[in-house]
This record gives sequence, structure tokens and C-alpha cells, in this order.
Amino acid sequence: MLKPESRIFVAGHRGLVGSAISRRLRELGHGALLEAGREALDLTDAVAVSDFFEKERPEFVFLAAAKVGGILANSTYPAEFLAQNLRIQDAVITAAMRNGTEKLVFLGSSCIYPRDAVQPITEDQLLAGPLEPTNQWYAIAKIAGIKLVQAYRQQHDFAGIAAMPTNLYGPNDNFDPEGSHVIPGMLRRFHEAKLSGAPSVTVWGSGTPKREFLHVDDLADALVLLMNRYDNSEIINVGTGEDITIAELAQIVAEVTGYAGEIAFDTSKPDGAPRKVLNIDKIRALGWQPKIDFRTGLAETYRWYCDHVD
Ligand code: GDP
Repeated sequence: MLKPESRIFVAGHRGLVGSAISRRLRELGHGALLEAGREALDLTDAVAVSDFFEKERPEFVFLAAAKVGGILANSTYPAEFLAQNLRIQDAVITAAMRNGTEKLVFLGSSCIYPRDAVQPITEDQLLAGPLEPTNQWYAIAKIAGIKLVQAYRQQHDFAGIAAMPTNLYGPNDNFDPEGSHVIPGMLRRFHEAKLSGAPSVTVWGSGTPKREFLHVDDLADALVLLMNRYDNSEIINVGTGEDITIAELAQIVAEVTGYAGEIAFDTSKPDGAPRKVLNIDKIRALGWQPKIDFRTGLAETYRWYCDHVD
């Protein structure tokens, strides 16, 4: 159980997820946050990570650091998505286990589930079938992380848990037009189309895939609850349980950004998984549910982007 004075290490505190966890912890009055930027600690360097843990002795760890990216980045840099994530996870989880960390939360992803999983996806479908090829490299790394946490629990009684968030959005996301996920990618493209007065804006793929979107502040709230209340080797989903098509998303992004032109679909770009909506019965039973309305969260994220662009 987190106490106000607990020494908490948020690995990846500048990213979308890590920054939301740090915000939430500060709101709750946790002052002893250990944060180490990339320049201070290279998380792919197991020796440096081990030294950091020996010196700082974090009692609680949120492992939110990962090499992440959208559908195009994943299929363009498969080696980085596989190897860097394996290294980060192994370094941080092993150092936590060896240096007396009381509890660790590992972050997976909804893409670890089989491409043809029964929807909404229950946790027991992990490894029940082949993966979606566009993000299999990232998914395999994340599955290895889940297994490492489970193995340390079985062999060393280490209290590591693994949460599976759905597609996330919010402030501090990566808005790079090529490497980003769909929401930041679309917000930027629609924003630029509005400013330039472009008659049409292009969305990747057919528009028919369905995605579930969770605001990262809702995720952070769930992760703190799981740190305090969940201690089990079984993975646990974190999502909204609801999804929309990419074409519907594009319509909402057009409204939020104030873009009035046409929306075109570039079917030469990959669609990825047809659908991946999570079943969230398990986390609901612990008393958690998402609070942030999608349009409200999206409008707030767009304002954040406008304030931070350039
Ligand atoms: P995924 O959930 O792992 O497939 O990751 P993404 O967030 O990258 O993509 C989600 C879906 O949005 C895919 O079907 C993409 O083809 C579609 N999409 C449409 N426009 C964009 C865009 O501008 N960027 C990204 N990344 N995806 C887009």
C-alpha cells in the first residue's frame, strides 16, 4: 500500500503514461517520487539500472517506460520495438526484484491479445492464437514482460503485477505525424489542414477498424488503485469497454479541431487489427471505472497540443 512518504520510482515519467502517473501521485500527496530522465539513466543499460536501484532503493515501481509508436512506426522499426522493450523490462523488473522493491506495476498493451480474439477481450485470451502482424514485435516484448513478472512471483515471491491498457490518449503524447498513434496523428493532421485551408485531409487505412480509447488520467487512476489493491499473477485489463470506428473518430476529430473540409481514406496504409475492445469486468469488480468523457478528453488534449505546438 502506497504511503505519503513511500519512495516511488516512475520509470518513463516524461512520457504519456509516466507523466500522468506522476501527476496523479502528486495530487494524492505522494512527495517522494524518484524520476530519472533519459540523460540521467539509460533504462536499456542493465548495469546502470541496477546501480540506480542499489542507490535509490525504490519501494514501489511503475514501469511506464517503453519504446512505443503507432502502426507505421511498429512495422518500420520491428527490431527496436522488440529489442529495446525486452532490455528495458528485464533491467527494471530484475533490479526491482533484487533490491527489495515491495511492489511493481508493469504496463502491457491490448495488442498482446490474438488478432482474432473474441470481443470484448477477456484476460484469459492471452496466447490463445496468432498476433496481429503489424505490432507483433512490440506485443512479443510485452508478453515476455508479463511472463517475467509472473516468473519472479512464482520463483522469488516478488509482488509484480501486469496491467493491460487499451489505446491511450492525452497530454504529453507524441504528435509526430509518421510515428504517432492515431489520435495525436489525426489531431495534428486535421489542425494543420484547418490552418492551411486544405480542401481534404487524409486518414490512414479504410476507416473501418474499431478502437477503444482511454484518457491517460483515467489509466493513472486505475494504476494507483491496482498498486494498492491488486496482487495477483493474472493480468488485468484497463479500458472503457466501448469502441468506435476510425471513420467515426475522424468525424469527432474534425469537430474538435474545427476542420470543415473533406475526409479521405488512404487504403495503401495498414488497418491493423479489425477490432480490439477490452472486457473490463475484472477491474470494475475492484471498484474502478473510467470517468473522462471521450469528447471532453479529446478537446482538452487538442488544447494541450495547441499550447505546446512548436
Ligand atoms: P494500433 O491500434 O496498434 O493499430 O495503432 P494506431 O493508433 O497507430 O492505429 C489505429 C488505427 O488508426 C489503424 O487502423 C490506422 O490505420 C488508423 N489511422 C488512421 N489515421 C491514422 C494516423 O494518422 N496515424 C495512425 N497512427 N493511425 C491512423
